Amino acid sequence: MAKYFGTNGIRGTIDTVGPELALKAAQAIGAYFGGGKVLVARDHRLTGEVLRNAVVAGLQSVGCEVVDLGIVTSPTAEFMLKKLKADALIIITASHNPPEYNGLKVIDGKGISISKERGEEIEKLIGNVKMAEWDAIRPATRHDNSIREHMDAMKKLLHPEKIAKKKPFLVLDLGNGTTSTIAPQFFKELGCRILTINSHMDGHFPGRPSEPREENIQELIKIVKETRADAGIAWDGDGDRVVFVDEKGNFVVGDKVYALSVLLKLREKKGDVLTTVATSKAVEDVASRFGCKTIYTKVGAPYMSEEMAEGKAVIAGEEVGGIIWPELSLAKDGIFAAAKIVEAICEKPLSRWLEEIPAYYNVKTRVECDEEGKKAILEGIKKFAKSKGYKIIDIDGIRITFEDSWVIIRASGTEPYIRIFGEAKSKEKAGALVKEYEKLAKSFL
Ligand code: MG
Repeated sequence: MAKYFGTNGIRGTIDTVGPELALKAAQAIGAYFGGGKVLVARDHRLTGEVLRNAVVAGLQSVGCEVVDLGIVTSPTAEFMLKKLKADALIIITASHNPPEYNGLKVIDGKGISISKERGEEIEKLIGNVKMAEWDAIRPATRHDNSIREHMDAMKKLLHPEKIAKKKPFLVLDLGNGTTSTIAPQFFKELGCRILTINSHMDGHFPGRPSEPREENIQELIKIVKETRADAGIAWDGDGDRVVFVDEKGNFVVGDKVYALSVLLKLREKKGDVLTTVATSKAVEDVASRFGCKTIYTKVGAPYMSEEMAEGKAVIAGEEVGGIIWPELSLAKDGIFAAAKIVEAICEKPLSRWLEEIPAYYNVKTRVECDEEGKKAILEGIKKFAKSKGYKIIDIDGIRITFEDSWVIIRASGTEPYIRIFGEAKSKEKAGALVKEYEKLAKSFL
């Protein structure tokens, strides 16, 4: 079991993920990537500078060539990997977590983020690395143009003339995060009229909690309604995740944003679609409308980028509103995902686009159990589903798909629970489905 690496790299508060661990982890990461060229970027969290200094020192001490990108969004940093021909990237960020958290997100030279499994390999090197000779230690350099380069690359993949003609009015909720380094400028350059809220970077996150959930963006919803904006857009702290508010003030949840992105992608270029086993069936429904297949992966961005690197699909995305457009990078890019939808609303209002996405309702619950209980439930459910001849996906928990509903039973990696999540065409049906599997799960304990 990995001690430090989780699904999103290393993450925690400063008492666990402090400068000592950052230094040692950076040495191990530097050694893992052969002492090559490593980019370092960070978000604006208050503990970011301390960790950045430690990371840079750690990398230098094992002979890496360090290029510091400064404070940028995660998608901007990840976009720069290929451009600067680097061997790896370390982003110092805790994404959407509370202000006291921070961490290291590690991405290899191909743009694939490091999974728990690969993290374990790196951990074996912690405290076990060979320091560089005194005269092999190189100065770190700065690269200050990445935001401009990211914006220019995104523009090339859009139709700016279409947006400039319509001049949509957008309310941007930057959540006091790093998207304020790029989103206001970018959407202004595209010709949008914009109003920004929570728009100064602040490591205390005074405006709202960083995760763009419906309850956290009530102010945005209110302002969209009051100003009759064409859309509201909210990002998480490091800009890889995005959610929308339509022109009527309705919250558009992450997997709907993804399903719409799939629709927009497939009408331009057909191909397989990638998503995690925890994502709405709306995605599969949209893909099959175009005669395209949906490939499921384990939950977590690294697994999506691993499969995308093999060229398996034309788009990838997860239920929380993180979308990979492979033309740009193998990272979830919330800025580009937002821009593609803004381009679409120049054709017709967002609520009308959403009418084309099948509506599903979901219900979730959990069953308390120990590690043995988790095993017993998963094995029991799998046997049961197989005996019934149900269609199952068992790469991460057990997902059972029916005609117009599905349910997933997954063990929590960190807590003593089995989680059950179901989706159906009505709230009642979803509730009944989840109840049925809760009862079944408990029968295996
Ligand atoms: Mg994030």
